[in-house]
Amino acid sequence: METKIQHILFYSDALASFDYGANHPFKPERAKLFYELLNRYALIFEPNQKIMIPQRLDEKLLRLFHTTKYIELLRLSNCGEFTINMLDFGLGSSDNPILNGILDFSLEAAGATYEGTMMLARGEAEVVFNPHGGFHHARSDFAEGFCYVNDIAIAITALINEGRRVAYCDIDVHHGNGVQEAFYEDDRVLTISLHESGRSLYPWGGFEDETGSGAGKGFNVNIPFCEGTDDNIYLSVFNEIVPPLITAYEPDILFIECGCDAHKDDPLAHLNLTTASYETVLSKLKDLCPRIMATGGGGYDAHKTAAIWALSWATLCGIKIKDSFAGLVGGMMYGPEAHAGSLEDEAFHVTGPEERQCRQEADRVVAYIRKEIFPLHGIRA
Ligand SMILES: [Zn+2]
Repeated sequence: METKIQHILFYSDALASFDYGANHPFKPERAKLFYELLNRYALIFEPNQKIMIPQRLDEKLLRLFHTTKYIELLRLSNCGEFTINMLDFGLGSSDNPILNGILDFSLEAAGATYEGTMMLARGEAEVVFNPHGGFHHARSDFAEGFCYVNDIAIAITALINEGRRVAYCDIDVHHGNGVQEAFYEDDRVLTISLHESGRSLYPWGGFEDETGSGAGKGFNVNIPFCEGTDDNIYLSVFNEIVPPLITAYEPDILFIECGCDAHKDDPLAHLNLTTASYETVLSKLKDLCPRIMATGGGGYDAHKTAAIWALSWATLCGIKIKDSFAGLVGGMMYGPEAHAGSLEDEAFHVTGPEERQCRQEADRVVAYIRKEIFPLHGIRA
């Protein structure tokens, strides 16, 4: 009997080789390191797993989220051509430079998220992971935060147009502002973003009182954390807020934006998570919905990001890693940050006044959400 394919991984060497420039912090090659780990730890050889190569998104589908004018400028920037009015659309900044082939790259990355989503909708897969996707900062007419095309907003819009209910959980350390904007007035998408507070980090928003408007009131949930927040605090907040909301909402498909920049080693942000948070969060999310579309996202420590994605993929596929020291090959450690060749970190906790401050802020946010949002979903606060 043929084995049913349940777990799809999108991977492309070409996408992993795309270069934002030597001085740019975004390194698509993380996906290649991740793919090497999957091979080394034997996480991609199960009969119910399949690797697919991303295919270019039909350009017409950009219009599901982006404006005609912006798409036109994206086309021009694809040839490396810069005109001064592009800056009004975020194109040509240091974060979002004009790069030869940037639209081709973005369309392929978005094509994988879109195709994966459609496979889930058709019941052809249970879990899809696209490490090349997750561009949650792209706005309808503005490139920002290294994001040009919002693959998530496009795929979710296609789903809700088909009448599906979608939940979105964003664990990237930065607020998912582009996705929030896309569905702020919509109750067909439950949007949850856990991130470092906008008081200390780009994109400087994502506060708990941004709860949606009109029909979308109560369907946009922001969980900002104080600088320094560790696994204990993060996970206690996650447990109190996220499972009850997603359970009450009963989505057909759950999106996960799995940025890895909330990790303590990330150079661009200030939270203190270890791999333990990612394993716990992914494992709980997996149990909340039978169909999962997971994407990559931020993560500026390339080796750590690759390790977190490998653990996340294993968790979503329900695979126990047999040899957690397989990274130790020929006496060489996999990467400089790897803890003795293991994918998993040692425990790390903040203490003293820092711990108290993070805890206090977390308690305040939890109380706010339980009071203002839970009742709108019929959850007893
Ligand atoms: Zn990020």
